[in-house]
Amino acid sequence: APSSRARTEELLARHRAVMPRWQSLYYDEPVALSHGEGRHVWDIEGTRYLDFFGGILTTMTAHALPEVTAAVQEQAGKILHSSTLYLNEQTVELAERIAELSGIPDAKVFLTPSGTEANDAALLMATAYRRSNQVFAMRNSYHGRSFSTIGITSHRSWSPTSYSGLQTTYVQGGYRLRSPFRELPDGEYTAACVADLRQLLDMATSGDVACLIAEPIQGVGGFATPPDGFFGAIKEVLDEHGILFVSDEVQTGWGRTGEHFWGYQAHGITPDLLTFAKGVGNGLPLGGVVARAEIVDAIQANHISTFGGSPLVSAGANANLRYAVEHDLQGNAKRTGDRLRAALQPTVDATPWIAEMRGRGLMLALECVHPGGIDPDPARAAALSEAAKARHLLIGKGGLYGNVLRIAPPMTLTEDEADEGARLLLDAVAAVG
Ligand code: PMP
Repeated sequence: APSSRARTEELLARHRAVMPRWQSLYYDEPVALSHGEGRHVWDIEGTRYLDFFGGILTTMTAHALPEVTAAVQEQAGKILHSSTLYLNEQTVELAERIAELSGIPDAKVFLTPSGTEANDAALLMATAYRRSNQVFAMRNSYHGRSFSTIGITSHRSWSPTSYSGLQTTYVQGGYRLRSPFRELPDGEYTAACVADLRQLLDMATSGDVACLIAEPIQGVGGFATPPDGFFGAIKEVLDEHGILFVSDEVQTGWGRTGEHFWGYQAHGITPDLLTFAKGVGNGLPLGGVVARAEIVDAIQANHISTFGGSPLVSAGANANLRYAVEHDLQGNAKRTGDRLRAALQPTVDATPWIAEMRGRGLMLALECVHPGGIDPDPARAAALSEAAKARHLLIGKGGLYGNVLRIAPPMTLTEDEADEGARLLLDAVAAVG
């Protein structure tokens, strides 16, 4: 039999031959995962890794969480799929649970198989409700890979075309480190961005903009975090014009930010629409939109998704969300996130090539730069990611320039695991020098 390293190499060659060139893999020697348990994953060579990325935040609670596995197995033995044309208890229960958790009054929920489709549906609702194809999005945003969502994504490396049907204007504020207003203190920074938004309304739109879509903490953009209250100030301007606020909670939802269940809550507002995906299904393909009934029902035509909220994924998501709420994983994200941050802070402060550590709860990022300024250093970020992997710690990369490291472990992380991950990461930082 071939060695397990040879099996990885063979799989890599087959992947490269048949998958698109742009579907890139992490690491000089990519990892082939075999299975997971708790906060750990194993590759097919038998190496165990501490998972500090959860497959880009999709493993929300834990790998192989017994409650989710049991719910999925039970549902799989009954019926996998029943189409939205028939009633299903799991699906209705999930929609009820999400509507209630959302904090949006009189909420309705449309379920999709991905975050991209959630945002696409949100755009459909907002533009239909407002009868306008003009939208605001944030600079440094990522909202998906479809034709509509790349039109609100502000990263050239994620935008293969610019022929969007939307008329998008990009707003200042999410990515403070590279904002022209970065030197200003919190309140003045927010005020400058708000003034800029007012100017954009006059300069770049006809005033009747459908919505502003924003990630409370920008995920792909490297966990870029505006000051608390920022979106409250932005929303005051939107409200003057009837412009809807869409909170993309694909990465920030379900308590991951520690202080709050949703990212929007750090800003003292309730969004008009909220989109979610990733962690809700703990790896099962599920996303959706929540909004006030009048907005959801602004869509007059039939609009269905074959796989959105199927019985199988809904059963898993119901078990996953029940576990997260009953075990206060939001509280755990706060405790273990603070612990991680405290362990890393002195080294971050003393390392000239780390510009800053940012994020909230179990969303934590380090931005790598050339010392003496903020010129991005993606090579250093890649080296740190490799050094962490060599120590059997998986972390994520991201940021506009690929120079940000992202940490987002499953939310059942223990204090011991937080300490262990911090130790491995500090060791990797020292090795990279
Ligand atoms: N919104 C945000 C904030 C995301 O991070 C992502 C995925 N990285 C998406 C939307 C798109 O989700 P999906 O990949 O499930 O289509």
